[in-house]
Amino acid sequence: MKQSGDKELEKLRQRLEFLEKVNQQYISTLDTLNSLGDIHGNVRQKRSPQHIFSSTRQYICRLTNFDVTAFLMVNEDNNSFEIKDCLPQNSQHSLQSLIDSLIESGEFGWALNQSRICQPQLKLDGKTVLLHVLSSRTRIRGMFIGVLADTESVPSVMTLGLISAILYNSAYALESATLYKMVMKDNQDLELMVVDRTKALNTAQIELKKSNEELEGRVKERTAELLSANKKLLAEVERRKEIENSLRESENNLIAARQLAESANHAKSEFLSKMSHELRTPLNAILGFSQVMELSDELMQSENGYYVNEIRTAGEHLLVLINEVLDLAKIEAGKIDINSENINLADVLRECYALIKPLAKKKGVKLKELPDHLDNLCLYADRTLVKQVFINLLSNAVKYNTEGGMVDLKVDFTDEMAEIRVIDSGIGIKEDMQQYMFQPFNRLGVESSKVEGTGMGLVITKNLLLLMGGQIDFKSKFGHGTEFCIRLPPGFESFSPTKNKVSNAPDRILAIKGFSVLYIENDAPNIRLMESILSKWPQITLTSALSAESGIELAREMIPDVIIMDINLSEMNGYEAVKLLKTEKQTASIPVIALSANAMQKSVKQGMESGFERYLTKPLKVVEFLKLLGSLTGQVLLQ
Ligand code: ADP
Repeated sequence: MKQSGDKELEKLRQRLEFLEKVNQQYISTLDTLNSLGDIHGNVRQKRSPQHIFSSTRQYICRLTNFDVTAFLMVNEDNNSFEIKDCLPQNSQHSLQSLIDSLIESGEFGWALNQSRICQPQLKLDGKTVLLHVLSSRTRIRGMFIGVLADTESVPSVMTLGLISAILYNSAYALESATLYKMVMKDNQDLELMVVDRTKALNTAQIELKKSNEELEGRVKERTAELLSANKKLLAEVERRKEIENSLRESENNLIAARQLAESANHAKSEFLSKMSHELRTPLNAILGFSQVMELSDELMQSENGYYVNEIRTAGEHLLVLINEVLDLAKIEAGKIDINSENINLADVLRECYALIKPLAKKKGVKLKELPDHLDNLCLYADRTLVKQVFINLLSNAVKYNTEGGMVDLKVDFTDEMAEIRVIDSGIGIKEDMQQYMFQPFNRLGVESSKVEGTGMGLVITKNLLLLMGGQIDFKSKFGHGTEFCIRLPPGFESFSPTKNKVSNAPDRILAIKGFSVLYIENDAPNIRLMESILSKWPQITLTSALSAESGIELAREMIPDVIIMDINLSEMNGYEAVKLLKTEKQTASIPVIALSANAMQKSVKQGMESGFERYLTKPLKVVEFLKLLGSLTGQVLLQ
């Protein structure tokens, strides 16, 4: 009984010892697990795999005894395993041989795929080898290899589990360390980048400041430039203003000068008009009386009739000349009126010949007969101006000729041009003087000769021809004669020479019913002329007044059938007088004819505007006047 009790006691004691041992193991395990966090903590502090390896080794060796422990790490470059930490270090060589063998046998690779401690067949010096992969969830970091010290006993399953847990923990710590290192490196890189960027920023800031300063400098410079340009501009504006002012001043001066020129021109026109008037007034008497004489058949059939005719022709030529003087003044002013028409060349030349003949006769120069093929030839030109041209050339041909000399005329017509040559056998023009031909007032060396002249005739001739679309040139041989050749456009129609002939035969005086005429005129010869004209009709009562005022009085009293009135009257002029007559009821309907030596276009226009029925110019064309008088009184005075 006692023996069985002791046995039981012994069993209980062994049981207690076992439980105490187990208890010790649990406490130690808890202790180990408790301190596993240190590996991580250390990792964060030290960050070195070596430190992780030695900490791990410490904990593992607390759990079981190893002869050799080593940590292998994967070389990322060639995917091989390298021993990184081996204890004792002198076992590294034998351990490497063991590893090679394990790799060769495939046990190493097999262990890599296990998530626990593996015990390969191969041993080192007869001692058990343990392998445990060092891996995190994502990748394999390496391998733990341990050679147990005690060949006989293998650690318990719990111990092996704990070792496995520690090694996993180490693998994570290694991973964390690597990540930590990477993060740190990234941080460092980032910091470096920040530093770099900051540096770059600073540099940029400095650059910016510099360029700002530069810009400011340039702005200052530009502002200064602008200010100076502005200043210059202001000065320029001032200068322009001054120029403008002086321009305005000179413009004003110009206006004043123009006004002066205009008034001078006006004075010139006035002078010409006056001169024309003064010449026309006596000519009116000459031409008027000769026309009155021509009305008498008896007189015209006598020898005196021939003289009367000569007086009238010469008077008419004088009238043409006066007109030409006015025309020449107009040429200079560019105001000449060209009335081009078809004119019969033979008619014009005959008229010119008739005028030149007396001069030729006097000089003993022979005027050759006009060519006989001229009758149907026409020029397209202004009749008066063409006459003036031929008179100039023919009179020169006679003037600059010698006794017994001759003057000839040659005519050639083409479709485009009529060519008329005036040829003389006169004194000719010295060769060295010929270049000065057509120069105003240049008499080409004949100034001291007896031949009178002004040196203007050919200048005027040339200008007239140019105005009519013609030309002139000449050739001359000193001592032998001169030839002037003029060209003018030919006319477009053949002309009957008789068509244009001026008939000198007077119209026949007819018997009429009586009427009254009031003539207001301050020039006595003109009144006498009017009396002579109207004396052919005893039925016509002519009353005259010497001034506008007395004329108006008379008009009111007698209410004549027609009033004839001069313009240039002593006090009130003709324009004012007619206006007055037209405003008064009893005289308003009396037709008033202006009869004035003032033949300027302007005066005629003014006269018509003032209220005259017609504006006749002196010298009076008697037939035209009588026809007008007849039409105003409803009578026929001439047949
Ligand atoms: P004027 O005859 O009044 O002097 P013109 O202008 O008619 O002026 O002529 C200019 C000059 O040309 C004349 O002075 C004269 O020397 C020269 N002349 C003109 N026509 C002839 C001519 N037919 N023969 C010789 N010389 C002439």
